[in-house]
Amino acid sequence: MITKFLDRLLRRGPRPKSNQSGATLVAHKVHKKTHRINPGLLSKNAVKVTHTLQQAGYKAYIVGGAVRDLVLGIAPKDFDVATNATPEQVQKLFRRSRLIGRRFQIVHVTFFGKERPEIIEVSTFRAVLESVGEHVAESGRILRDNVWGTHAEDAARRDFTINAMYYDPASETVLDYHGGMADIRSKTIRMIGNPIKRYREDPIRMLRAIRFAAKTNFQIESETRKPIAELGDLIHDVPSARLFDEILKLLMSGHAWAGIQALHDAGLHHGLLPLIDKALANDQSAQFIQRALRNTDERIQAGKSVSPGFLFASLLWPDLEQRWQALVAGGMPNLPALHAAIDDTIAQQNTGISVQRRHEGDMRDIWTMQPGFEKRNGRYPYRLLEVPRFRAGYDFMLLRSQVGSCHASLGQWWTDFIHADLSERENLIARAKDDGLPSTQTPAGPNKRRRHRSKRSNSEAETTLDFEINGGKQN
Ligand code: ATP
Ligand code: MG
Repeated sequence: MITKFLDRLLRRGPRPKSNQSGATLVAHKVHKKTHRINPGLLSKNAVKVTHTLQQAGYKAYIVGGAVRDLVLGIAPKDFDVATNATPEQVQKLFRRSRLIGRRFQIVHVTFFGKERPEIIEVSTFRAVLESVGEHVAESGRILRDNVWGTHAEDAARRDFTINAMYYDPASETVLDYHGGMADIRSKTIRMIGNPIKRYREDPIRMLRAIRFAAKTNFQIESETRKPIAELGDLIHDVPSARLFDEILKLLMSGHAWAGIQALHDAGLHHGLLPLIDKALANDQSAQFIQRALRNTDERIQAGKSVSPGFLFASLLWPDLEQRWQALVAGGMPNLPALHAAIDDTIAQQNTGISVQRRHEGDMRDIWTMQPGFEKRNGRYPYRLLEVPRFRAGYDFMLLRSQVGSCHASLGQWWTDFIHADLSERENLIARAKDDGLPSTQTPAGPNKRRRHRSKRSNSEAETTLDFEINGGKQN
């Protein structure tokens, strides 16, 4: 009675029993005056996809994170559609569509717009674990997930209640199978079904719980939170590429700093980002990482782009810088030491989750460009400006200059140089000779570096810069 009254008061439906078999569950229909989704936040292409499927006689809804975000009044960054049409049936309806995935088959429908192409991910309703028992590993982890099921089953096999809502743009209703609306109102992340079992099926859900908590500022409900400390090690069974995607989503969520802290609090960070663990234990490195992540969060929240290569270059820099310093202190020349330190850092990170090759190339370019910013004489600054990834290298140097990894005024000098006309540039170069800036604070501090430099001939310095300017690639 009281619960019913509260439900009415909070305009929520009764919480359905969390039955993960899903077979008998009925969805609670939420009307537009309650969910208040702003149709202006919908992707026209996602609506086209649901419409086309429905016209062909199938069920089709926008689903998952997009519905969660729409209810929260946030513009979703991508849209997923769920349907009872099989992947082959979906493919027949859309000319620009592609079947992807093995473990989890879905169809990508691509739309080419004015800005960038939009991909709508269409997945077929899936059956729950009980009916696909033969596809489960000994640890409980799901290996294959391509058995089609009913709509209720599809809802039951999703991870959290707030991710298991379906929106029909035609009728403007939300179908809520697991009390997701109520959990959104109470700001709760709650696993559907038995959390221990669900984490065993797919340990990545632990990381997702943390990610959504950081992103939405919701609390993880206690039964959902408790098993994470104990089951954390299962995360290492997850293929590295999936882990990388999920960590990248966390880092690019606009709440990366909160996310990394939450991973620590939950004890889930071990071995994922080994070098960040190490860096966070040291005040100065932690300051660098915090600055890098806060900058990233601000950029993302302001709608600017962030490259994963830049992000990982920042996260791994404190460790790389230490290695670089140690090698130079041991007598290795500056640039070979930098390259050796880069190789070591990447190899060490790859013992956790491996950074994908394409991002690795970006990271190397950014790192190898750094010593070039110290050279502010002759044609050097002009040539550095021409390097293809100059902007990323410059942004990175600015970040370093903010935390004392290079001199604070170096950042300002380059900012002035970029914006100056030709004669101002010549003045800046002339003034750089005696502005008293130490040539570098890395790797070995100003004095050592000066000594090291004076030993080298001009032509050696020239070759070195060419090498840096080629993005560290030797011809
Ligand atoms: P984001 O906004 O970060 O993309 P999302 O919830 O949309 O968040 P996706 O990875 O795009 O996350 O997944 C889409 C939906 O698929 C989820 O909302 C959830 O319903 C379901 N899902 C994704 N991963 C899992 C998983 N590991 N276990 C169960 N359901 C999942
Ligand atoms: Mg999504």
